[in-house]
Amino acid sequence: MKYDVVVIGAGLAGFSSALAAVELGKKVIVVAKGLGNLYSSSGYIDFLGYYPTTTSWPVTNPLQALEGLVSENPEHPYAKVGKESIIRSVNAFLKASGEMGLSYAGSLDSNLLMPTAAGALSPTSLYPGANGKDVKKAREMVVVGIKELIDFYPLIVAQNLERQLGKKVEALWVELGLDLGRELNSYDLALTLEQEKNVIGLINKLKSWGVKDKLVLIPAVLGIKDWQQVINRLESQLECQVMEIPTLPPSVMGYRLAQSFMHYLKKKGVEFIIGHPVVHVDCRAGRCREIAIETAAHRLKKIAGEAFCLATGGILGEGLQVFPKGIREVVFNLPVKTAETHSLEDFFSLEEQPLALAGVMTNEFLQPVDVETGEAALTNVFVAGATLAGYDPFLEKSGNGVALATGYRAGQLAAGGGKVNE
Ligand SMILES: Cc1cc2nc3c(=O)[nH]c(=O)nc-3n(C[C@H](O)[C@H](O)[C@H](O)COP(=O)(O)OP(=O)(O)OC[C@H]3O[C@@H](n4cnc5c(N)ncnc54)[C@H](O)[C@@H]3O)c2cc1C
Repeated sequence: MKYDVVVIGAGLAGFSSALAAVELGKKVIVVAKGLGNLYSSSGYIDFLGYYPTTTSWPVTNPLQALEGLVSENPEHPYAKVGKESIIRSVNAFLKASGEMGLSYAGSLDSNLLMPTAAGALSPTSLYPGANGKDVKKAREMVVVGIKELIDFYPLIVAQNLERQLGKKVEALWVELGLDLGRELNSYDLALTLEQEKNVIGLINKLKSWGVKDKLVLIPAVLGIKDWQQVINRLESQLECQVMEIPTLPPSVMGYRLAQSFMHYLKKKGVEFIIGHPVVHVDCRAGRCREIAIETAAHRLKKIAGEAFCLATGGILGEGLQVFPKGIREVVFNLPVKTAETHSLEDFFSLEEQPLALAGVMTNEFLQPVDVETGEAALTNVFVAGATLAGYDPFLEKSGNGVALATGYRAGQLAAGGGKVNE
């Protein structure tokens, strides 16, 4: 079977590529070794949190800051795809998120400061609509910890928020009385809170604490599927506002986005094969003809395509492998741009870390290029997301933003069959 577009990688970049290609009426398959980083992440889509990266003041208007970034740093993935394409990817995602039943809100014109599980305030552009609440404007706030949940300490969160916001933030613990014989992670607890009796238990506990008219900050455990209803019930019965705080992995907010996006793409006709790495590629005369994945029985399954999106992630996604003498791109063995040293001596420096900047170099069409000559190495392969060189997602806070924007552009270009410069 031959596909119009074969997407390699099931992270946000891969999903965004598949979305763009299927919207253009193409026959699309996503193949991936495993689940992407969304399952560990907050589910927020950060476009640009800090720029210049040496400042500790968050960006207030990402679109405006992007203008500076793009002109000062032409090798940055945002410069490669351009402002119009970035805006298009955001609009497509916001529309799709509504259709997948997980409406996101926000825009590229402003960042909202979201509390993290440690009580830091993290700038983000797109977030689930239910979380569109501004902690800076809230008059009274209370952080709720749930005794059965590991790794969430309301007092620490409240103290950190107080320090940054300069106003009082209360903290309280509730115990749901779930006798499961062990502490629960966020995913376990979210499953438990799908049950009516536990939701009622939570509401009753919070009622006795008096949270009326306050902004209640609670770890993101309010259900896997029906969290919106749980939030609505809490807000109406307690007469408060509720905002979930993304937890440490496994992150329920990231899980909701990953699952909703995948089901949505499946409904649109995208096929998925997850759990098998690409182990072989057939490339001739500057084009890829087919790839092969290794099945559970150690057999090769060949998948032919007109064009390919490479969205295998960076070092954390395992699209790039680090060796003492260099870095390897795992699928096509593409040239990787690296620096002589992998890391700065001061690990916590506000300078970009060379290792974070490493990745596959591309031209403006996201085609991989030879680092020396700048020539396209493969004309029907388009690279997206954390595999790309030239940006530090951690310092900039741009990880999911780059994945979304470059993924969408790669998917559109791949849908053209890789004929961009022929
Ligand atoms: C813990 C954590 C929290 C984060 N939080 C945030 C956040 O709050 N906001 C934000 O904006 N960003 C966040 N990020 C960064 C962001 O998640 C990443 O930048 C972004 O997800 C990268 O997406 P990607 O699709 O490029 O790669 P990934 O999500 O890494 O996906 C790579 C995919 O490629 C597959 N793959 C790899 N090798 C092969 C192979 N050989 N064959 C087939 N498939 C392969 C993998 O299995 C996976 O499916 C976070 C990252 C981490 C690690």
